[in-house]
Amino acid sequence: METKPVRGRFAPSPSGRMHLGNIFCALMAWLPVRAAGGEMVLRIEDLDPDRSRMAYAAQMEDDLTWFGMDWDEGGSKGGPQGPYYQSQRTQRYRRYFEELRAKGLVYPCYCTRGELHAAQAPHREDGAPIYSGRCRSLTEEERAQLAQTRRPAYRLMVPDREIAFTDGCQGEFRENLLRDCGDFIIRRSDGVFAYQLAVVADDGEMGITQVVRGCDLLDSTPRQLYLYELLGYPAPEFFHIPLLMSPSGKRLSKRDKAQDVGFLRANHRGPEALLGQMGLWAGLLDRPEAVTARELVAEFRKKGMNFQGKGELTVLEDSQPQ
Ligand code: GLU
Ligand code: ZN
Repeated sequence: METKPVRGRFAPSPSGRMHLGNIFCALMAWLPVRAAGGEMVLRIEDLDPDRSRMAYAAQMEDDLTWFGMDWDEGGSKGGPQGPYYQSQRTQRYRRYFEELRAKGLVYPCYCTRGELHAAQAPHREDGAPIYSGRCRSLTEEERAQLAQTRRPAYRLMVPDREIAFTDGCQGEFRENLLRDCGDFIIRRSDGVFAYQLAVVADDGEMGITQVVRGCDLLDSTPRQLYLYELLGYPAPEFFHIPLLMSPSGKRLSKRDKAQDVGFLRANHRGPEALLGQMGLWAGLLDRPEAVTARELVAEFRKKGMNFQGKGELTVLEDSQPQ
């Protein structure tokens, strides 16, 4: 029997104003937590100093609040598992990194982008190259030689092993770490710890039991499950929700002004119409009636997640402000 309280999180990267897809993701992370009487954590993923701005993080809190979503810990509110800004957690990532290195599982990779994307390299479905393990077997001399002109990234060595898990939305997903992914980067050549390491360290330390996020991260999950094992944390449950697509078939992005939360807020008196639209997309409503976030919690309690196998959702024209 599951007795632990549900702990969910929303983990946005403050690299711009949120768009409706980000809000949809926040909502789908928030609803099951509130429906279960659990705890919600807001973690700001400002790991990349070049792309993150404090002002965007503050704006995110304001936008989430405008939609009627709240959180128990995190962001500027702080809490017992803080800090909740990844930029302030570097020492922790370093500790895990050193732990993995001490186990002999980490090696420097000197490959350039060009070498990684070489035409003959096998690629994943999304176009990312599968790393060949080229730098695994460099001798100390070769490393010293390369280090004179290049700063290495650091990769985690993966075993020839299949990782399978059941996603709460997408069903069974499996991947062979070595064949389908290859040794992956846990620290970039500029010294920044990689998302894969940071997200597992944080979700592990923060006791997260349930991860709801976009389908674009589904194929990161086997890598993360492997890291949970290595770092010694129990893995959460995963729910990968569909990505919102524009009617023309493109993924909503922060560049798409019509779905930008700033634009949407300027064109709506309150969040209810937008929440109704999202409730419809989530299969919680039969038609896009105006609702509050709290009202959707009651619907979620009855209906739960309804995205079985859906990786994309086309955003209808009438979600645009009238
Ligand atoms: N920070 C990531 C993003 O904004 C989300 C990471 C996660 O939910 O695991 O895309
Ligand atoms: Zn390499």
